[in-house]
Amino acid sequence: MEKTKTVALIAHDNKKPDIVNWAVNNRAALEKFNLCGTGTTARLISEATGLNVKRYLSGPLGGDQQIGAKIAEKKIDVVIFFWDPLAAQPHDPDVKALLRIAVVYDIPIATNKATANYVIHSSLI
Ligand code: PGA
Repeated sequence: MEKTKTVALIAHDNKKPDIVNWAVNNRAALEKFNLCGTGTTARLISEATGLNVKRYLSGPLGGDQQIGAKIAEKKIDVVIFFWDPLAAQPHDPDVKALLRIAVVYDIPIATNKATANYVIHSSLI
């Protein structure tokens, strides 16, 4: 089956183990999509699952902005973003911009595991 939808994967450092575990547990669902992500998150998920995950720059170095730009170009359909609500991020403005642009373009953006489960298994996807 041709992969038509693209899912972006992002996690802040304290949430990387969570997104990797989530990706391993949902590998069968994820393999139906084109995958991309911020640098470190994409690499870790690719190593853990064996799936091809296109790597953008690391988040603090512009990866969030690259993903935001792809949303604006309508090249990303879903975002799974495990952000850390308990740690300050040096690239907080970029994080806010990504959340904002996802809302502007009405892109499903899951920011925790429970929502990610709903989104990735939704028949609406
Ligand atoms: P990373 O970026 O996957 O390259 O660590 C994520 C982020 O902090 O936005």
